Amino acid sequence: MPSHSSPLEVLKSHFGYGSFRPMQEEIISNALGGQDSLVLMPTGGGKSICYQIPALMLDGLTLVVSPLIALMKDQVDGLNGNGIPARFINSSLSGAEINTVQGMASRGEVKILYVAPERLALPGFRRFLEQVHPSLIAIDEAHCISEWGHEFRPDYRNLKSLRQDFPGVPVMALTATATERVQRDIVDQLDLRDGKVFLSSFNRPNLRYSVHPKGNYLRLLLTTLRERRDQSSIIYCFSRRETEELAEELNARGLSAHPYHAGLEPVTRRQTQEDFIRDRVPVIVATIAFGMGIDKPDIRLVVHYSLPKSLEGYYQETGRAGRDGLPAECVLLFAYADKAKHSYFIDQVEDGTEQRNARRMLDRMVDYAESRACRRRSILEYFGERWEEENCGGCDVCLEKAEEFDATEISQKVLSAVIRTGQRFGAMHVIQVLTGSREKRVVELGHDKLSVHGIVKDYDRQQLREIINQLRARGLLARNEGEFPTLAVTGEGRRFLQERQTLSLGRVRAASEGASAELREGRSRTEAVSSRAPAEYDGALFEELRGLRREIADAKGVPPFVVFGDVSLLQMAAAYPQSTESFSRISGVGQVKLEEYGERFLGMIREYAQSRGLEDGTEGLFETEERARVSGADDEVRPERRRRQRTGTTYDVTRSLLSQRFSIPEIARERDLTTGTILGQLERMAEQGTDMELDHLRPSDARISEIRMALEVCGGEFLRPVREYLGEEFSYDEIRLARIFLRREGISSE
Ligand code: ADP
Ligand code: ZN
Repeated sequence: MPSHSSPLEVLKSHFGYGSFRPMQEEIISNALGGQDSLVLMPTGGGKSICYQIPALMLDGLTLVVSPLIALMKDQVDGLNGNGIPARFINSSLSGAEINTVQGMASRGEVKILYVAPERLALPGFRRFLEQVHPSLIAIDEAHCISEWGHEFRPDYRNLKSLRQDFPGVPVMALTATATERVQRDIVDQLDLRDGKVFLSSFNRPNLRYSVHPKGNYLRLLLTTLRERRDQSSIIYCFSRRETEELAEELNARGLSAHPYHAGLEPVTRRQTQEDFIRDRVPVIVATIAFGMGIDKPDIRLVVHYSLPKSLEGYYQETGRAGRDGLPAECVLLFAYADKAKHSYFIDQVEDGTEQRNARRMLDRMVDYAESRACRRRSILEYFGERWEEENCGGCDVCLEKAEEFDATEISQKVLSAVIRTGQRFGAMHVIQVLTGSREKRVVELGHDKLSVHGIVKDYDRQQLREIINQLRARGLLARNEGEFPTLAVTGEGRRFLQERQTLSLGRVRAASEGASAELREGRSRTEAVSSRAPAEYDGALFEELRGLRREIADAKGVPPFVVFGDVSLLQMAAAYPQSTESFSRISGVGQVKLEEYGERFLGMIREYAQSRGLEDGTEGLFETEERARVSGADDEVRPERRRRQRTGTTYDVTRSLLSQRFSIPEIARERDLTTGTILGQLERMAEQGTDMELDHLRPSDARISEIRMALEVCGGEFLRPVREYLGEEFSYDEIRLARIFLRREGISSE
């Protein structure tokens, strides 16, 4: 390693990345400056590089302490795959093998050495360490040192004395667990008092969260898993028996799922892990024991079939999805009865404090599952982080909100009725008046003579009740509690009327929909969760590249992601690099991988592209690091599109992106808005007759005509019945889009 290289040069040459993620650079220079640091970053945030780059730049050896023995081999394979001399020592090696590794390390032939914490207690190993004298000590999963964490490891206590034996050696403690108590504990126990704390947001922008009632679990699982056929998924269960039964159930329906739990033979467990990591089995049905030893970057789905026992645990377990930064989904199946299973075990706990603690954590978890607040916000607030955005665009709650309708007129009617009847009545009476009831009491009070009597025709009572609830939640109506609660219009409600403000409310369900509401609910949420269209890339080429990757990986006996991650393959399938120079711009292509795999991948891409006349589009792939930093790794898929400027009004920006023939998901991503918002803009512009380029978005004639039929049958105002009519194959987005075309073309039923 030439000593004049900068961290950025090392990042490019060894790891093939063009820019640092937030904080990586600061952490690296802190370590190079000989300082301690505590690094708190979510899973997939890129912690490893923070010590791997200093390891390459400092003289001598970097010691990495990690509790995850099963992971070490993959990590070391990954580093070796990038031409970095790394090794590990743990109980899976024989005494002779350990001697060999120690010998190499003493001769300076190893730059990064992974060890398990229990090794530090062995005098022989301590003598070895004294002799090589590491230049940096990295402590991975540092929360294991704290009894307050959920993964306390007594062996981590050995680290205290390690710290004392090497007082001058900088220590970097890294963790993805962020509760403050654990943080303080790490600092205390490792004596990091003068060190810097690097705290990044714990938001995982590429993860989508949702909660579903467990009642209809099988159907939901089957749909979701079938949509993700070849993709890696984990389903977490409460008990060993549950994992086996559910795996069987799924296999009986044609999916390939293996159970995993601590009761299986070690050989079987190892084989299952291995098959999963090597992409031979897509679905694992496991107890939470599974995953600790898995560092698979491309897990696309994590389902909790049972309630986790804490939100912290839930965050950790779902955190295993999407480490590579590409979109992934986290689904919690919730049944209130699951709480009882945990409570039963909590009741057995003898220590009173511990028991209270466990109860509190469980209650938080249940709150999460039952609440209708943004899931992302709930999780982040649990970790003491503030989330300012109103709509995260990536959880079931927020996505449903995106389905809001214009409730201005109906709200005006409701508020007026409350005022006209003298603010002395409850919701029931107001609803009766609005819907034109001639009940005795209405007539006696003379309310059938009011101008608001019978002015609502298009909402039924149930819907009006929901609207009233929402108006209360928004603070436009207040309810005076008492034996007979009455409604009153608040100051805000009056302003709404006087200033002729507009108002959107969440979709309301018709009474006729009530019976099978839960089932529908489940379905519409699946749709919302899985409708995220893949970024634009060539699916056929991607599959071919995946095949090549697997072939190479199997021949070398390493997991496929050690050859290239999905991000790299997606970029290749999006940009068709056809020269060595372009190929080296692809994320994840460093010098060693370029030399080792460049020709084979390039060969395949060239043949594919040239037979179809596709040009090399890698130009500018790494030009704009800044935008990448703002919006996260997700954007790496189409980095060349990051260049677009945001100018003009929000509608103008959307129009301009349309004229460049971007798809709706792309525009949404580019603008950090939801697809629902973008469609709303299109609808608004279409209404106003704004000129815009839409042709590239037009669904096929066949689909448009199906949607048109449905609109004619159900009426065009509410989407839900239309969607019900059409079935799951049609997304809300597509229906809205088709409706725009139909209105433009003047053949809508309305
Ligand atoms: P963590 O240990 O925080 O969970 P990793 O270190 O495993 O995260 O990194 C997650 C993924 O992100 C890995 O595939 C890694 O190679 C990739 N990565 C890390 N830093 C960068 C970067 N600066 N640019 C692009 N990819 C990166
Ligand atoms: Zn949300």
